[in-house]
Amino acid sequence: MTASRQSTIALEARFAHELPELAVRWQAAEPPEPRLLLLNAPLAAELGLDPDELRSEEGVGLLVGTAVPEGATPVAMAYAGHQFGAYSPLLGDGRALLLGELVDAEGRLRDLHLKGSGRTPFARGGDGLAAVGPMLREHVVSEAMHALGIPTTRSLAVVATGRFVRREEWLPGALLARVASSHLRVGTFQLARATGDIELLRRLADHAIARHAPEAAEHERPALALLEAVVAAQAALVARWMLVGFVHGVMNTDNMTISGETIDYGPCAFMEGVDPATVFSSIDERGRYAYGNQPVIAQWNLARLAEGLLPLIADDQEHAVGLATSAIEGFGARYRAAWVDGMRAKLGLRHVDDAAQVAALADELFTMLGATRADLTTAFRVLGAAARGDHAAPQRLLGAAPGFDAWAERWLALGPDADAMDRVNPVYIARNHLVEEALAAATAGDLAPVERLLEAVRRPFDERPGLERYAEAGPEQDFRAYTTYCGT
Ligand code: AMP
Ligand code: MG
Repeated sequence: MTASRQSTIALEARFAHELPELAVRWQAAEPPEPRLLLLNAPLAAELGLDPDELRSEEGVGLLVGTAVPEGATPVAMAYAGHQFGAYSPLLGDGRALLLGELVDAEGRLRDLHLKGSGRTPFARGGDGLAAVGPMLREHVVSEAMHALGIPTTRSLAVVATGRFVRREEWLPGALLARVASSHLRVGTFQLARATGDIELLRRLADHAIARHAPEAAEHERPALALLEAVVAAQAALVARWMLVGFVHGVMNTDNMTISGETIDYGPCAFMEGVDPATVFSSIDERGRYAYGNQPVIAQWNLARLAEGLLPLIADDQEHAVGLATSAIEGFGARYRAAWVDGMRAKLGLRHVDDAAQVAALADELFTMLGATRADLTTAFRVLGAAARGDHAAPQRLLGAAPGFDAWAERWLALGPDADAMDRVNPVYIARNHLVEEALAAATAGDLAPVERLLEAVRRPFDERPGLERYAEAGPEQDFRAYTTYCGT
């Protein structure tokens, strides 16, 4: 590699150096014909990177991992994980690489990571590659989540590789450059614990504490404080998912972060009509990761993290189990508080202090939404209209639900703030039929629909003329039949 091809961006190698047992040095495959499809300029700016530099040949070289800065140490990260409840002792980045960490414009450490960069020693039977459609899906849905204020990994860029990848059919290949506050997962701790090397486990916990819970270092039991911090972050995260109808689809323990960011947009989708049994993933045959199960699954995953941390929590095993169990049991109350708080905002009731009153209204509303299968996103916008005195639209949408009139009367008597509601209830989400339509066009070479969809979801609360179709629910029959595929 010549100096002229190298990027001027400084990448650290903290994970690679501090946790070499969990990292395999590796190089990205050379794409035959790399072509930048989407660059996230606002994110580049946040990272202190020059978008024009990233668009140059050297920049694209960085984004596909073939021209990394001097001193960078790209690695495939090792981890274990429970997939659909079954334990896999070794997973790891089969088609991904951590290029390194960079310090963003605010001084925070962020991972720069590639997905679709070729086979690694963890690839097992996989080809190490990714297709344009799923990488654009991750770009669009993670941008939509970010704009909704939901913690998430981000997409810096999607680059077409010029190589075709074989799925059910041959598809154009692409690579995603992903930014995250780290790629530490529950599965990373499961693997470290399974090695039996307590010193490695401690080093991993220290690394995680430094990055995600620095206050835990001062605690008399840092590993317990780390666990509590992750429980809190995940409870808050999953509550946010539930409030917007996000279904992750593959909440395996290797897809749950320590940072509390949403990661791994595979078979994810937004629920439209409210139904706790909503599943989109073609491989989730038993509905383990259905919409309504997500909080319980998150808690189950956190219990796996707790098991991993046990030897660090207390020397006496029984004592450690007791402390870890209380931390995990705390998930339910934290989740509920975060959800009720989110509903308080969505109902325009920030001025109402009585949490029990808000909770009752929120629970009853969800029952009515389930009974009518009303579109979740539309429902909160029309309630905003009701708070302004327009009762026709909410009547049309929810009037058939038993008890709606009495509910609305109680709620309106509290004086909901319509403007505040419109600031937290999105008009535009990444609706399944819109995502599908945009990805199909992009796969056929037309990026315009993806760009228009991004424009809508990047300002989700700001209703704009000309974007009406982005606010509408998809046809009911399509929603029922909507399936997303893993093996992306
Ligand atoms: P995911 O379901 O995307 O979280 O992936 C689960 C595991 O399978 C991870 O270890 C991935 O690195 C690996 N994997 C997924 N797709 C591929 C692929 N096409 N080639 C190699 N490994 C893959
Ligand atoms: Mg994964």
